[in-house]
Amino acid sequence: MFKTTIAGSLPKPEWLAETNKLWPQWKATGDALLQYKSDATLLWLKEQEDCGLDVVGDGEQSRQHFVHGFLEQVEGIDFENKVTMGIRNNRYDAQVPQVIGPLRLKGRVHKFEASIARAHTHKQLKFTLPGPMTIVDTVADRYYGKGTNEKEGRIKMAFAFAELLNQEALALEADGVDVVQFDEPAFNVYMEEAADWGVQALERAAQGLKCTTAVHICYGYGIKANNDWKKTLGQEWRQYEKIFPSLAKSKINQVSLECQHSQVPMDLIELLRGKDVMVGVIDVASDVIETAEEVADTIGRALKFVDRKNLIACTNCGMAPMTRETAIAKLKALVGGAALASERYI
Ligand code: ZN
Repeated sequence: MFKTTIAGSLPKPEWLAETNKLWPQWKATGDALLQYKSDATLLWLKEQEDCGLDVVGDGEQSRQHFVHGFLEQVEGIDFENKVTMGIRNNRYDAQVPQVIGPLRLKGRVHKFEASIARAHTHKQLKFTLPGPMTIVDTVADRYYGKGTNEKEGRIKMAFAFAELLNQEALALEADGVDVVQFDEPAFNVYMEEAADWGVQALERAAQGLKCTTAVHICYGYGIKANNDWKKTLGQEWRQYEKIFPSLAKSKINQVSLECQHSQVPMDLIELLRGKDVMVGVIDVASDVIETAEEVADTIGRALKFVDRKNLIACTNCGMAPMTRETAIAKLKALVGGAALASERYI
């Protein structure tokens, strides 16, 4: 059987936070909010298990956004005075916090939700963290770039974040997490920088981990700014070609990528030969539910370039901005398609 998993996020229930938003407002505060986060985590663990997924996660129910959830626990960041900044090479504007001093963790970042998830599932548990380069692209630097040029500042700040990510990743491993995944959509935007220092920063974040390590590189959530951007990328999306060779040489075990309905030439996966590849077989930018046949077909195309034992069926990206019903239907399609592919491609 091909194993199945998700990229990371799942929709938040309407009693927890605003729905269909990337930066939703919480619906409660204090202890009530913690209780709702815990309830939502349990709900999604159960749904993932019922859908038949092999590797499950917390669905990122306890963080407002996949980057800011981590940053909230970092000292040296001014969250009160956010500024508007063009992110992902100015693809869209975001309200981002500012780095104003040396970075240090205030304490554990994700112990609460990781412990709940570990206590309530016997399945393999994956936990996601933002990658250093993507964090650097989602904050405004007022400290690390001082007295140096912008590029040096970005690199210094990325490695400072990588150290903090590493502390949290090691703690998550101790909590019983089986897979630590770093999300690096920025790799697909700054390909030269990714190959130059981004992969090194990622390895620093994963240093010393004995559990499985993964990186997720996608073309973003299914929001309008991303969908418009994709239309400018031409017939063939070859971004992966520039970063996969460095990743292939890295110590990271698994690479999660976007395949379904994307213009990524499938043969680029060949560049990762030997790694586990989480093949994106579910489009998160569309509410149309894939059929098992479609999912199995995508797996079949990928199998020309990745060994059977190394292929894991996955979603293209996170499902946070979707409705719960659509997400569940897509999880079922994912598992059904992987089962069909297991029969087809023996
Ligand atoms: Zn993604």
